[in-house]
Amino acid sequence: MDDVTIEQLRDQIRYHAHRYYVLDEPEISDADYDALLHQLVAIEAEQPDLITPDSPTQRIGTTPSDLFAPVTHREPMFSLDNAESTGDLEAWEDRAARQLGHAPSGYVCELKIDGLAVSLTYENGVLVRAATRGDGTTGEDITANVRAIEAVPLRLFGDAPETLEARGEIYFPIHAFEALNAAQLDAGQRVFANPRNAAAGSVRQKDPAVTASRDLSIWVYQLGFVQGGPDLERHWEMMEYLAALGFRTNPASEAVDDLAAVERYVAETEEARHRLDYQTDGVVIKVDSLDEQAQLGFTAKAPRWAIAYKFPPEEQITMLRGIEVGVGRTGRVTPYAVLEPVFVGGVTVTNATLHNEDEVHRKDVRIGDQVIVRRAGEVIPEVVGPVVSLRTGAEKIWNMPDDCPFCGNPIVLPEGEKVARCTGGLECPSRLREWLSHFVGRSGMDIEGMGYKTIDLLISEGLINDPADIFFLEPEALLGREGWGELSVGKLMAGIDEARHRRPARLLIGLGIRHVGGSVARVLARTFRSIDALMAASEEEVAAVEGVGPTIARSVRDWATAPETAPLIEKLRAGGVQLSDSEPEAATGDRLSGVTLVVTGTLAGFSRDEAKAAVEERGGKVTGSVSKKTTAVVAGDSPGGSKLTKAVELGVPIIDEGRFVLLLDQGPPALGDGT
Ligand code: NAD
Repeated sequence: MDDVTIEQLRDQIRYHAHRYYVLDEPEISDADYDALLHQLVAIEAEQPDLITPDSPTQRIGTTPSDLFAPVTHREPMFSLDNAESTGDLEAWEDRAARQLGHAPSGYVCELKIDGLAVSLTYENGVLVRAATRGDGTTGEDITANVRAIEAVPLRLFGDAPETLEARGEIYFPIHAFEALNAAQLDAGQRVFANPRNAAAGSVRQKDPAVTASRDLSIWVYQLGFVQGGPDLERHWEMMEYLAALGFRTNPASEAVDDLAAVERYVAETEEARHRLDYQTDGVVIKVDSLDEQAQLGFTAKAPRWAIAYKFPPEEQITMLRGIEVGVGRTGRVTPYAVLEPVFVGGVTVTNATLHNEDEVHRKDVRIGDQVIVRRAGEVIPEVVGPVVSLRTGAEKIWNMPDDCPFCGNPIVLPEGEKVARCTGGLECPSRLREWLSHFVGRSGMDIEGMGYKTIDLLISEGLINDPADIFFLEPEALLGREGWGELSVGKLMAGIDEARHRRPARLLIGLGIRHVGGSVARVLARTFRSIDALMAASEEEVAAVEGVGPTIARSVRDWATAPETAPLIEKLRAGGVQLSDSEPEAATGDRLSGVTLVVTGTLAGFSRDEAKAAVEERGGKVTGSVSKKTTAVVAGDSPGGSKLTKAVELGVPIIDEGRFVLLLDQGPPALGDGT
């Protein structure tokens, strides 16, 4: 080791284990903790004479706290060995096969619930004790608290054995966790880093009334010590038995024949887990035959008959370097965190939204703080909260700037609102940039080749000051600039020309009138047939349109009468943009009416939002899960296994991006005979 000695490394690990298991207030992410532990394991593997009985590699969890009476487990409670790849799973099976003389005869796959392990002892069917895992041998007596959890049976159904110990994971449902953290914030108390810490913190309370007030639940996943129970041959039977006694057992578990099926289960749950109301951090794979389990036995820390496949981490701790604001096309000012880059949820995250000033203060995040960053699934990364115990005192409190950093005009927070706004109008380059990007976006005028890079160039060169300027752009203005040859300029000009002939509904979307999204724009265009007619319509006339309420009508009216609107429309007209529907509203707008699609994986030409907008604009729907009502599943790169499996099960056609584009253009006939 370079500058850290093995004892210093052990001390570091012990310190963090204590914060995690005893104080329920970790200072580093699980991934960082695991990295420290791996480092120690590697050193000890190289120099086994350095291993001491008290090394963190030799023990489970940590010494129980003295807050609760100690409980000695009749059978030790173990940790689980980890696998991070299918290669690790194969190596595990090989080891088992060598020991058994054949591969295990079957497996049970279970979700690895991210909560707090608990041992529940029943005597003659009555709950007499609940204990934490502690160091595996001795846990803490938390009976009084666990009795307050409704999902834990106090009395078992049927003929319960004389003594029965069930093991499971107490967890915090996500909806309850979010409600708890919101309440903690309101009360000025610390937020919990994640549902696991919240569950552990809620169970390990001096006052059972606090536990009772928290909406905890449990999944039971195993029998421990049993006296006078039935003869069981398989883990799966054990689970059925536990369910019959009245325990909550997880319905997502599955018995499978071989490792190929385990791998399929892992792939499916990795995608499906974000739709669950509890956190799972992996899959636990158990050898099904209890006889084979007995032959395989245990290592010092974990059973050889089970392994935990860990999903990549979705939470990390990193430094908040600064807080900056972005100004959107409506003038909305949104603060965001500038982070020390961190790999989380499968990507490197450098920014995370902070929503609004109120949120920054409620979460009490300060510049310089170590913060918990979370990115789950395709959700935008967010800052959960600061790690208060790591503060040095040098952290700075942030306040919304008085003036817009882009245009220098005042930022205002209208009375009673949470959203601050820049008052610069289109003088604000950030607003203009966002508006232009929306205007040329796929759901708006859909101008190919006009991304942020081009927009930035056009703005900085003063070539564009509003969306209508796009239609006055001369090829000479771009030709010869870096990256702009005949071909690319020609393409852009062709794209702009195409946009001139888009239907007025697209223009309405692009204009970004408040509350006017795809479907409202289509109804308005269908009813009024031209932008002029819409501008001339009274508020009552607009409100009378089906699907348009008074709020939208007022917003349309405000837009129509705003001083900048008429000149902009005139300029668009002069630029050759089509402002009315010459042909009667044909079926194009409703081409996908009655069509419901599910999109999975990454599409090359559309973000998820763009794909959704493109479908909705044509009257179709995009939903998150496959059902009998799904017309087709659009599969991009790395599609979710479970969605595809479900589609196959239900006979829903799976189409690729090419077919999707055809579907957008031609409607359902593009699906052909459904294959
Ligand atoms: P583990 O959490 O990886 O696995 C063992 C536990 O899994 C069992 O005790 C059981 O409670 C649980 N489990 C959930 N579902 C299960 C199922 N279906 N069947 C069987 N068991 C199931 O191992 P561990 O030793 O408890 O803890 C290590 C974890 O704690 C790691 O993720 C580590 O990163 C984290 N940790 C973090 C810090 C920190 O500072 N951030 C410190 C210490 C530990």
